[in-house]
Amino acid sequence: MVNKISRIGVFTSGGDAPGMNAAIRAVVRACAYYKKECFGIMRGYEGMIDGDIVKLGARSVGNILQRGGTILKTARSEEFKTTEGREKAYNNLQKEGINALIAIGGDGTFTGLHKLYEQFQLPSICIPGTIDNDLAGTDYTIGYDTATNIAVEAIDRIRDTALSHNRLFFIEVMGRNSGYIAINSGIAGGAAAIIIPEENITFDQLYSVLGEGGKTSKSSNLIVVAEGSKIGDAHSLAKQVAARSNYFDIKVTVLGHLQRGGSPTYFDRVLASRMGVAAVEGLLEGHSDVMVGVNDKKMVYNRFDDIMSKHHAIDSEALRIAKILSI
Ligand code: ATP
Repeated sequence: MVNKISRIGVFTSGGDAPGMNAAIRAVVRACAYYKKECFGIMRGYEGMIDGDIVKLGARSVGNILQRGGTILKTARSEEFKTTEGREKAYNNLQKEGINALIAIGGDGTFTGLHKLYEQFQLPSICIPGTIDNDLAGTDYTIGYDTATNIAVEAIDRIRDTALSHNRLFFIEVMGRNSGYIAINSGIAGGAAAIIIPEENITFDQLYSVLGEGGKTSKSSNLIVVAEGSKIGDAHSLAKQVAARSNYFDIKVTVLGHLQRGGSPTYFDRVLASRMGVAAVEGLLEGHSDVMVGVNDKKMVYNRFDDIMSKHHAIDSEALRIAKILSI
């Protein structure tokens, strides 16, 4: 099996994340290094079903390392969720002689690749590319560091205006059901409170953080809210506070897709480069149906079945630190 791999297909799928281009570059160049042919599949599973496939060489990935987004584009495909859709995709891969796949994406992308593997036993490896950092089996996903840094920069800027008035800011950050971006941007940005889905906090507990009777002794109050907050989004929390106290001038900022764009940090570029090389080497060593991850600085391969049922828990130390420092 190991020596049979001669043509590797690479694609990005699901939400884009800064650093995906660095991962594509690493896969393509590692293929060239090991004298394997590499093909880029455009628009994820949609392009696989349409046969939108291009040959990539070491020189086709020049000058993309520092660019956000993904040169291979990304998409979501409902058709790939069907057996027939996957069969169409597999037939297109066969036409190009592609006999191994590397996917860069999140848990949905992995599930799709796992299904394809179950159906056709095509050797395949996933690289975790999502800003949410919500995947078990890796300490970090590609894009998370960049997105968190962008959130911190935004919080710093908002603090300047908050300090100039008696303002209470609710800042909503991305992360879907994961509170990773929120907890770490909140600590780094000096938030008065951080609302994440992993921690049970009531509205009353949040309100008490603002001080006796809703009056604070702080000169500015920044509250970071994770997208997946279970007690309401930033707008609804702001409304609830306004209904109880007219002490604050309340503002809401939802960072949204701003966090996905821009040049990846050094950390994401290095992570993506290491993961891209590890994915190619993993395939050549015979790993399949696994995700590349980084664990305590070392590259690891985790079986799909071992990670997909697990939640990437927030470090309890981070929660403790956030509480102590928001006093
Ligand atoms: P992100 O975390 O950034 O949203 P993701 O990879 O989780 O990325 P999804 O939209 O969930 O993004 O999944 C990407 C694609 O993977 C889907 O559009 C679909 O084509 C495929 N996919 C997801 N779930 C399945 C499934 N159960 N079976 C087959 N394919 C799937």
